[in-house]
Amino acid sequence: MHTPTPAQLLQVWERGGDPSAAARGLLLLGCSCDEYSAEAQAALPLGRRDALLLELRERLFGAAIDAVAACPHCAATVEATFRCDDLRLPHADAAASMLEHAARGIRVQFRLPDSRDLLALENCGDAEAARALLLERCVLDARSGDEAHEPRSLPHELQAEIARAMAQADPQADLQLAFRCPHCDHEWQPLFDIARFLWQELHAWALHMLREVDTLAQAYHWAEADILALSPRRRQAYLELCAP
Ligand SMILES: [Zn+2]
Repeated sequence: MHTPTPAQLLQVWERGGDPSAAARGLLLLGCSCDEYSAEAQAALPLGRRDALLLELRERLFGAAIDAVAACPHCAATVEATFRCDDLRLPHADAAASMLEHAARGIRVQFRLPDSRDLLALENCGDAEAARALLLERCVLDARSGDEAHEPRSLPHELQAEIARAMAQADPQADLQLAFRCPHCDHEWQPLFDIARFLWQELHAWALHMLREVDTLAQAYHWAEADILALSPRRRQAYLELCAP
């Protein structure tokens, strides 16, 4: 992984104006993760993708993540700070490529969901259709003896067990934060979606950066590329010099 330059980050932000969270996650990997081809990035289990996005987040914006949530019990706004290291689970990169679950006389082989699946699920009308499509995509083989089963025809209980086995095998993809409300002592664990979170931070950063470019371009008539190529320290010094 390498740290993208400000110019590369602005390009990513520009290209991610419209797409979904899944597509934005891939844009973020694409600008930083040169150890994988674009195809391989899209095929990474979501937990591995999220571990890489956490690493990118730490490179871009530091290790501390300030999270805010509303207490589900008393509705108070609760703030908490987490470290990227605390959110990276061990073995996030060691998820098996093929898993197996056997129950009710049926042996099911399946793989973990990845970004290609998230993209395919975007056009599903409801959660039920999304679940069925995900199962169809990720179940590689289901059979009892010599008889093969269609993923959709598997008993509902078995489908639920496969979904649970997927989540257990890739816990980094379902990361939960530990919150405790200081007002009512309620404890809860909201899901943390690093792809969404990092994109929001990138968006705020991009708007801030464009404001700085605007200020310096007006003051010194430099080109955007030249301003973006300045080190943060030098850019800050010029901003202070031209401040009214
Ligand atoms: Zn509370």
